[in-house]
Amino acid sequence: MPGDTCWVYSAAMPLLVTGTVGIDTVETPSGRAERVLGGSCAYFAAAASFHAPVRVVAAVGRDWPEKHRSVLRGFKNVDLRGLEVRANSTTFAWHGRYKANMNDRETLSTHLGVLDEKPPAIPQEYADSDFIFLANTHPAVQLEFLRHFPKRRLAVADTMDLWIKIARKELEQLLKEVDGVVLNYSEAEQLTGVSNAVTACRRILEMGPAFAVNKKGEHGAILVHRDGVATMPAYPAELHQVVDPTGAGDSFAGGMMGYLASVSRTDVKSLQTAIAWGTVTASFTIESYGLDRLAQIKRSDIDARMKLFQAAARVG
Ligand code: AMP
Repeated sequence: MPGDTCWVYSAAMPLLVTGTVGIDTVETPSGRAERVLGGSCAYFAAAASFHAPVRVVAAVGRDWPEKHRSVLRGFKNVDLRGLEVRANSTTFAWHGRYKANMNDRETLSTHLGVLDEKPPAIPQEYADSDFIFLANTHPAVQLEFLRHFPKRRLAVADTMDLWIKIARKELEQLLKEVDGVVLNYSEAEQLTGVSNAVTACRRILEMGPAFAVNKKGEHGAILVHRDGVATMPAYPAELHQVVDPTGAGDSFAGGMMGYLASVSRTDVKSLQTAIAWGTVTASFTIESYGLDRLAQIKRSDIDARMKLFQAAARVG
């Protein structure tokens, strides 16, 4: 069970995530999942919790199902004191459909619910958070959130097509404030107008951050840092293992940030190792709908898969 805490580095730096905790309806060429637990924050927190304790700041509404709450509670290293339940509001809900290649998807509907209101409150106990991840939500909310942590060691943001389209100005402002950004290949192209993944990252660095991670789904990820470039293949998943790619990006970021918080490092070498942990952690997420697979595995499963990944990716 993910509740096993003994493997988490006791010296891990406080890691905090804010974003969406929501209800997803997902359609793939082979199936459909109705109103499962989702949201950027939920995936991130579950994935990060295998590497370091993680604090959550998010809001849900009166329709938030009890069964989803208990799944999140099952991840013992996820601190839910910052998960606000609003009796007068509704939970963020997203409906997406994947194309046959299981990489591209379209959003069929987004119900903002609590996202349309004031951001969730940050518990006093979270004030000393050193590692901050701004999972997908409105960039103005991400920016405002960041202002509460002037002494943080590392702030990394995620974003997506919707925000690049409707909140570009706020996103550009955010990029001036964060240390790093994690985004999909198509989002990097949309943001910069450049299709080459490395050059697109360089353009993003010109906008402010010290590093950018460009995720290319089954083709792996590229890290462009002011101090160097790293490339990471994807975990070689078989067709039958890919049930639902939703949350892969957030889980990747969770594994990455969880590792960095666990070793308390932010340099380019550590980031390179971190994206390997992100890759391996996310490879479990896609094996089921929602958080089901992550809720089944132990840290030892991630370690075992990391060994396979290292062997498969070895050069020389
Ligand atoms: P990904 O890791 O990119 O597959 O993220 C999938 C998750 O993002 C889903 O669980 C959705 O609930 C969530 N999501 C979808 N659209 C948005 C949005 N506009 N803002 C924040 N989260 C979103």
